[in-house]
Amino acid sequence: MIQINNKQARVCIDPGHGGNDPGAVGPSSVREAVVALKIAKEVMFQLEELGIDSYLTRTEDEFVSLSGRVNESKGSDCMVSIHCNAHSSQAQGIETIYSSAGGKHKALANYVQQSLMKYCQGHKDRGIKMSPSDGYPRKLFVLSAAVIPTCLTEVEFISNVEQEKWLDSDEGQTQIAYAIAQGIKSFLMSLPGAIKSDDRSVEGHPQVSMAVSKQTVEPKLDDKEVPVMRTETADLLAQSTADEIAASQDPTSIFANSNEVEKTEVDLQKKDQDADSSNGLKGSGLKRKSKRRSKS
Ligand SMILES: [Zn+2]
Repeated sequence: MIQINNKQARVCIDPGHGGNDPGAVGPSSVREAVVALKIAKEVMFQLEELGIDSYLTRTEDEFVSLSGRVNESKGSDCMVSIHCNAHSSQAQGIETIYSSAGGKHKALANYVQQSLMKYCQGHKDRGIKMSPSDGYPRKLFVLSAAVIPTCLTEVEFISNVEQEKWLDSDEGQTQIAYAIAQGIKSFLMSLPGAIKSDDRSVEGHPQVSMAVSKQTVEPKLDDKEVPVMRTETADLLAQSTADEIAASQDPTSIFANSNEVEKTEVDLQKKDQDADSSNGLKGSGLKRKSKRRSKS
C-alpha cells in the first residue's frame, strides 16, 4: 500500500469524452470514448495491484462535463485524463500534456510519459507538452482548472489504422494501463511523505508460516553431517518411493500434504516475481467492475 502522510494514496482516473461526445472516431469506427473507458478501468485494476486506491470520473458511456470531471478529482492525490489523439492517417506516437502551472503537474506528466515509453515499446515518443504553449496552442480545461496534480495523456492516434487496431485490442489496452499505473506509482512515491507500507501487510501473512513449516520439513545440510546425511538420504529416497505409492492411493497422506506446502510456496514466489517483473504484464482481462466515488 502507498501512503502519503499516513493516508492511503487515492487517484482519480478520467476517461475522456463519453455519451453524446464520442471523441475522435478511427477509420474502422473505433470510438475514442470507448477506448478511453476500457483503458481507464484497466488502470484501476493495475493500481489496485500496486496497492493504490482509485476511482473513475465516469464508469459508463455517459456524458460528464469538464467542470464535473475536475470536481470529481478534488481530494485525491492526482488525476490522469486518458485520451486518444487524431490527425492524419500517418500520424503516430504518444504524448502527455500538462498545464502552464508546471510544478507537480509537469512532474506527473513526465512520470506517465516516461513509463508509457518504457512499457509501450515501438511507439514514437512525442514527449510532454505544456498547454497552452507554442508547441501546443490549445488550452485544455481539465488542465487549466486542475485543483490537484493533473495530466492528460494522448495514447496514440486513433486516426492511424494500425494504431487504432492496437488501441482497440485487449493487449494494447493492458499495456497502456500498466504503463500509466506504473507512472502514477512513481509520481506518488516522489511526493513528500510518501511511503510504501508493504512491511505491515506481510505480518501474519500465510507465506511466513509456510516458510517456517517448510524449514522443519526439510533437514538442514551441514558439512560435517554430510556423510550421515548420505545414508539417510538413501533411506529417505527409499521411504519416499514407498510413500509415493501410498500417496497415489491415499491423497490425505503426509507426503501429499508436504508436497502441497511446497507447491503453495512456489506459487507465492511466482506471484511475487510477477509483481516485481516489469515484463510480466498481468491484465485483468478487462472484466473487472469499476467504482465511482459517490458524490457528497
Ligand atoms: Zn480526446
